[in-house]
Amino acid sequence: MNSRNRSHVLTAQFAPRVSARGFVLKPCCNHMFRRRAQRLCSPAMGEFDLIARFFQRPVRRSPLGVGDDCALLAPATGMQLAVSTDLLIEGRHFLSTVDPERLGHKCLAVNLSDLAACGARPLAFTLALSLPQADEAWLAPFSRGLLALADAHGCELVGGDTTRGPLSICITVFGEVPAGQALLRSGARAGDDLWVSGTLGDARLALEVFRGTLLVDAAVFEAARRRLEQPEPRVALGLALRGVASAAIDVSDGLLGDLGHILKRSQVGASVDREAVRALLAAGSAVDAARQLDFALSGGDDYELCFAAPPNALAAVRAAGAATGTPVTRIGRIDAQPGLRLLDAQGQALPVPHASFDHFA
Ligand code: ADP
Ligand code: MG
Repeated sequence: MNSRNRSHVLTAQFAPRVSARGFVLKPCCNHMFRRRAQRLCSPAMGEFDLIARFFQRPVRRSPLGVGDDCALLAPATGMQLAVSTDLLIEGRHFLSTVDPERLGHKCLAVNLSDLAACGARPLAFTLALSLPQADEAWLAPFSRGLLALADAHGCELVGGDTTRGPLSICITVFGEVPAGQALLRSGARAGDDLWVSGTLGDARLALEVFRGTLLVDAAVFEAARRRLEQPEPRVALGLALRGVASAAIDVSDGLLGDLGHILKRSQVGASVDREAVRALLAAGSAVDAARQLDFALSGGDDYELCFAAPPNALAAVRAAGAATGTPVTRIGRIDAQPGLRLLDAQGQALPVPHASFDHFA
């Protein structure tokens, strides 16, 4: 059975509650063990063998990597450290059937996406891994996917923690940004243009196919599934937008919700062009118009950048997109009036669908 079919079986069996961020397949386990008692030990491969085999690699730019009590980082003079953590839990953020190589990629990608949103250059990361068992057949492809993306971004694995438990993966990423130049959620100003990179909603389309609520051509599904399972963080674009964008966020929980964070932190509102957003779904022709809009507006798991920039930076935004090979689309405008307005082609305000996923809502 291929993994797509397995996923269908899983979804049917567990009747998942869908979310923009993934599935809930089973209730969380809240076992409390003493830390050492949770240590991962297998007769074939102990904790330290496992680390040495799959995660210990020589460092080039960091002064000290895996193997001591702490790693050491050396951000360049005048730089600030940008730090972000993301935790991924099996059954909540990813299907248990996902290809481990793609999962390794995604775990780091979602963290690098946060650095991208801040305009920070990746330096290093740590990996806290909880695993049911020391399974080489899982660890080898997982570490391959993880470290390939790390190498592609010059981001070194410098430490972590490894323990036995339900599968969960927590990565903390460290980047550097010239002091005072980080892109923040709080910098948007009335009159700024509102932009989005790449495409939105395709990850959600793949999720709906996994759920069995949607049937699309195999090629459309494969492309969308890649967006869900192997997102490419927009690091180069984030760097190119330093000094150009006034505010930025990465779209992980759906455009509406994530844009909402910019609006709140910047104390502004926005008008968003419905047709511009609808057109952001790459697989647009595969679904009806209502779903196109829904996926693009609140799909989640996109890992694109949503950012604001003053109108006189329009050419600079386009140049940043071109220089980094990233499509950028203007989707609206920042307003002084609080709230989010969705406008049709005639400029008439439309009802705004409810916002994005919240783990505790
Ligand atoms: P400590 O007990 O001091 O926390 P550990 O015995 O847990 O150290 O880990 C030994 C070394 O291996 C440390 O340098 C730690 O950062 C590193 N390490 C542990 N797990 C991982 C992992 N999954 N990936 C990368 N490095 C790891
Ligand atoms: Mg440790």
